[in-house]
Amino acid sequence: MHELGIARDILDIAVAEAEKHGGCRITRVDLEVGVLRGVVPENLAFLFGHVAMGTIAEGARLAIEEQPARVACEACGPVEARGFTIACPACGSPAVKVEGGDALRILSIDIDDSLPAREA
Ligand SMILES: [Zn+2]
Repeated sequence: MHELGIARDILDIAVAEAEKHGGCRITRVDLEVGVLRGVVPENLAFLFGHVAMGTIAEGARLAIEEQPARVACEACGPVEARGFTIACPACGSPAVKVEGGDALRILSIDIDDSLPAREA
C-alpha cells in the first residue's frame, strides 16, 4: 500500500527532526500533499497513527493540506484541477500543461518539550 510507505517516511523524518531537538514528543505534523500523488488523506492520517505507535510521535496529529494541481490552458490561463487531467477542466481544451499538484513535503513539526521523552 502506497500510503503506508509515505506514512513511514514522514514518521522517520519527524522523529529524526525531533531527536535533533532533544528527543521530546511530537504532537503534530503538518504535511502538504499534491492531489496528483493519489493519496487519500484519511488513509494516510490513519496509517501514520498506526506506524507512530510506540514512538515519540504516538498520538500526534497528522494535518494534511492538499495542494491542487494547476492546469495552464492556452484559452483560460491557469485553472485548478482536483486530479490528473489531460484536458482543461474549464473548457475541455487538450492544449494544456499540468503544473504543481505533486508536492509531498512536511511543512512543520510541533514538538512538545514540556513532556518527558518516552522510552523507545
Ligand atoms: Zn481552458
